[in-house]
Amino acid sequence: MSTFQQLPNRGIQLQERPPRLEVRVRNYETFLLSELFKRNGREERVQTATPPGYSYRQDASRQALSVDASGPIMQVAAHPGDGPDFFYATYLKIASNTQYRNSYHEVVLTDGEGGVDGWHPERTRQVRRKEAYAGAEIVGSRLHFLSYPDGGLSSLAPREQTRLVRTLAQKLGEIQPAILVVHPPKQDHPDHAQSFLLAIAALEFHAQAGGRAPTLLIHDVEFGLQQRSLWTPHEPDPRTETDSMHVPGLLVDVTSTHQDAQHALQKHQTQMVDPVLGQPKLYVDLIDTLAQLRGLQLMTEDVTRLPRGQGFSHIVIPGITNEQNLLRQRLPAGSIYQLAKVR
Ligand SMILES: [Zn+2]
Repeated sequence: MSTFQQLPNRGIQLQERPPRLEVRVRNYETFLLSELFKRNGREERVQTATPPGYSYRQDASRQALSVDASGPIMQVAAHPGDGPDFFYATYLKIASNTQYRNSYHEVVLTDGEGGVDGWHPERTRQVRRKEAYAGAEIVGSRLHFLSYPDGGLSSLAPREQTRLVRTLAQKLGEIQPAILVVHPPKQDHPDHAQSFLLAIAALEFHAQAGGRAPTLLIHDVEFGLQQRSLWTPHEPDPRTETDSMHVPGLLVDVTSTHQDAQHALQKHQTQMVDPVLGQPKLYVDLIDTLAQLRGLQLMTEDVTRLPRGQGFSHIVIPGITNEQNLLRQRLPAGSIYQLAKVR
């Protein structure tokens, strides 16, 4: 259930005209931000998610038809739940554009066997793989489990690491994705940060082998929050300490697909409700909270319901990734909102 639905008195009536609507939207944004910060044990210093002087503007431009945007979509994820958390809603939106033949390969580096405290890892592995297949069925993704150790990606022996990079390069060679989605490099979860580096290394091999350079996208950071721990590994330093929201380069309007993605996420039952304690997991609803916040950031005046959004940034590494953002072609027209300076 969304926070919006749980709070009827604090909800906004979207039929109203500005400026009252604008004020209520802003208040609701502050409320969502406060939820994200408080629930993560952080100080609520942030009032608006879009930096002053910027806004997300609908990108109606289409690239020249000569650009070949066809081809599979691939994701490199550290854990079974990462696809539903960060990308499923956007993939479903891509899949709704039937102008292209759509396919989605989810390469999952670990089986998430460390995901249930109190269970033997082998039991967790079996259950989480089943959950992942049930979720993948909803979005039509093809899962590739590589079964490296959950929680151990950043401490692999050099030989194992090389083997993993080679396997990823092989997957890239087989799949030849048009778009590759990876974890952002700045995150508190070491498996996520390491997955980014492994994917970049694999892309280099892929390019050397003459493979197609995909559009590289990093998805939003967890809960949309900049992770302080990476920047302040020792003593807190006021120069580097940051509490800010992450600012994605683009937002995708996933209003029409968010519910189905949530439905797929619910299939990861061990991550929704702790099977040992029988209690809901602490952060589950924050995926929806962030989608609402990203929705408010891309919201236009003429909407009739609260939109949902998902954030990404396009990363260009010359010679290795595509400088064109093929998401523009693959999504239905008008679904992308690009971060732009307003003054
Ligand atoms: Zn993860």
